[in-house]
Amino acid sequence: MSLVLSQQYAETFPNLVSQHRVKPLDSARIRLFNQSLATEFGLADRTVNALREWCLGNVAQVGHAQKYVGHQFGVFNPDLGDGRGVLLGELSNKAGELSDLHLKGAGPTAYSRGGDGRAVLRSSLREYFASETLHHWNIATTRALALVSSHQGIQRERIEPGAMLARVAKTHVRFGHFEYCYSERLVSEQKQLWQHVMQRCWPALVDAEPVEQFRAVVKATAEMIADWQAFGFIHGVMNTDNMSICGETFDFGPYTVFDTFIPQQIFNHTDQRGRYSFLRQPSVGLWNLQRLSQALSLIFPVDALAPVLNDYEDFLQQYYLKRMRKRLGLAPGDDADAFKLVGEWMGLMQRFEWDFQGSFIMLQNILRGEQAMPNDTLFKAWYDNYMGYNERQPELSTMAQSNPHVSLRNHHLVEVITQAEQGNWAPAESYLAALTGEPLSAEELGHWQQPPMEGEQVNSLSCSS
Ligand code: AMP
Ligand code: MG
Ligand code: MG
Repeated sequence: MSLVLSQQYAETFPNLVSQHRVKPLDSARIRLFNQSLATEFGLADRTVNALREWCLGNVAQVGHAQKYVGHQFGVFNPDLGDGRGVLLGELSNKAGELSDLHLKGAGPTAYSRGGDGRAVLRSSLREYFASETLHHWNIATTRALALVSSHQGIQRERIEPGAMLARVAKTHVRFGHFEYCYSERLVSEQKQLWQHVMQRCWPALVDAEPVEQFRAVVKATAEMIADWQAFGFIHGVMNTDNMSICGETFDFGPYTVFDTFIPQQIFNHTDQRGRYSFLRQPSVGLWNLQRLSQALSLIFPVDALAPVLNDYEDFLQQYYLKRMRKRLGLAPGDDADAFKLVGEWMGLMQRFEWDFQGSFIMLQNILRGEQAMPNDTLFKAWYDNYMGYNERQPELSTMAQSNPHVSLRNHHLVEVITQAEQGNWAPAESYLAALTGEPLSAEELGHWQQPPMEGEQVNSLSCSS
């Protein structure tokens, strides 16, 4: 049975797309399928069937590669666009809201610049796991709908099995789309693109003043990055072409979630100067928003948007504090004192080399009297202030809801990928269940809760995907 998609973007923006026919992969098989996401869009088995037929090449499927440009590591690159991804069209949820359905790894497009247009199983699995984990942690992100595996070998640093990832996003419009319109002076396209994004992401603001509309983008970006900081998530490649206009975490590559909190550690081995290290993410977010506002000067007076950028840091701090209040179970109270407690908590985490997510579980165990307090004067001083701030007991139920028991760990991903490459998908299914709070045996859960042992840590990740 066929799957009917609308083609709103391609029909509205013929100058911003290039038609692309999905290039099948040998022996394509759907290995992971996100049933709960499919249900949101009223998709049943027919989606699985349709996807399988497209990826095998039994049914020709035409979509559109999107044109965009971007600043990569601070340098403008005019030659970007979907080099291996294709917008298949839009899906409607039960409320009639549209989302993009995109297939990554669908063969070379007009924007491939000599690349093979493919994605490997390793990176497709990493994206699937990250987007579903962040979603479970209530962090804005694109979603994974399905992972398609194949025996077809793809040349990277080694030959790896190829794959495709079907993902769903509110929109695939990036900061880089607006930078493209700006660089080509496409005034009417940019106006229409801005309206398209508002309609899709902030329908209540369609008729609002540009400054109000831009504020929505700035706030969404600030909230996303604040949430990354609160969960020890490092995106790794915050180029403007990897920034979604609606503030969804996007284009997962050499990302990391901290095990031990070492704030200055650089995981992406092509980012030697640490432009995209954990501590720099908030300021890079602002730098990227500045590039966006510059691009928008094509259609809005620059002075109109500038004041909103000045509010970015405040937004970010507010969102960060909101998250950390929940993680630490802080009762409502003075913001400055709460901020100090949060900062000192992060300091303790760093000093004692605690596991990032594990430290919040430890704190809950101490509060419940199930674990002894670290025998350390600094910790005790902090704990006294913490109890003093709260006046009554910290909110254990909020803490329980806000702190995951299972973290997204590189060494577990390595295990899952190695097994999947050999045809064993049981670990992938088990880890995904653990990360997304599905029922699992105590033994399996215990396995996925283990931080890396000596020698298991992954400290360097490749951009090649
Ligand atoms: P990324 O590092 O995934 O954000 O990609 C940066 C740019 O390179 C985008 O324009 C991608 O579409 C393009 N790209 C990445 N990998 C490939 C590939 N294997 N083939 C063609 N284009 C690619
Ligand atoms: Mg990208
Ligand atoms: Mg990409």
